[in-house]
Amino acid sequence: MSTAHIRAPYMDPSADAQLASLPVPRKALFLDRDGVVNINHGYVHTPANTDWVPGIFELVADAHARGYLPIVVTNQAGIGRGLYDEVAFLAYTAWMHAQFAARNTPLLATFWCPHHPDAGNGDYRADCMCRKPAPGMLLDAIARYGIDPAQSSMIGDKQGDLEAAAAAGVPARLLHEQDWGSGLAGMLSILS
Ligand SMILES: [Mg+2]
Ligand SMILES: [Zn+2]
Repeated sequence: MSTAHIRAPYMDPSADAQLASLPVPRKALFLDRDGVVNINHGYVHTPANTDWVPGIFELVADAHARGYLPIVVTNQAGIGRGLYDEVAFLAYTAWMHAQFAARNTPLLATFWCPHHPDAGNGDYRADCMCRKPAPGMLLDAIARYGIDPAQSSMIGDKQGDLEAAAAAGVPARLLHEQDWGSGLAGMLSILS
């Protein structure tokens, strides 16, 4: 295992207020990004290439209603591969957060891993602790925000998402395309 460091999360402008409204221990709804928040067109990093997965805003609204903190955890090997840089990723992430805030369904934070064990350039080529299926991003969020993993939930579209959640002690569910829409919107009621 390398010493590749976990990046600081992107924090929503409303994060402090969200955290202040919920006592510790808190519960989180962990969301994979590509394939759960936005449709996975491959290394999405621009608003023009962003299509929302149907039901995602309703799901995040339900998370708030149930007292869950919505947290994105995303592998971003496109950074390590040199397809876009950290500055561009963070600018896009701020835009994505703003889309949720505009619908009164803010995200809390986005945790991201820029590494890849084989294809990363330079320091990005790392067998890190943060790239899913490793649980580093979830464990970082759990420690930062006083989250109880057993009360939390994760939704992902790949086996690696479920493995990361299991390693962090978070119950998880796989999202299939046939669940898009009302299935995704109601998924937290099944997990809770
Ligand atoms: Mg995915
Ligand atoms: Zn990483």
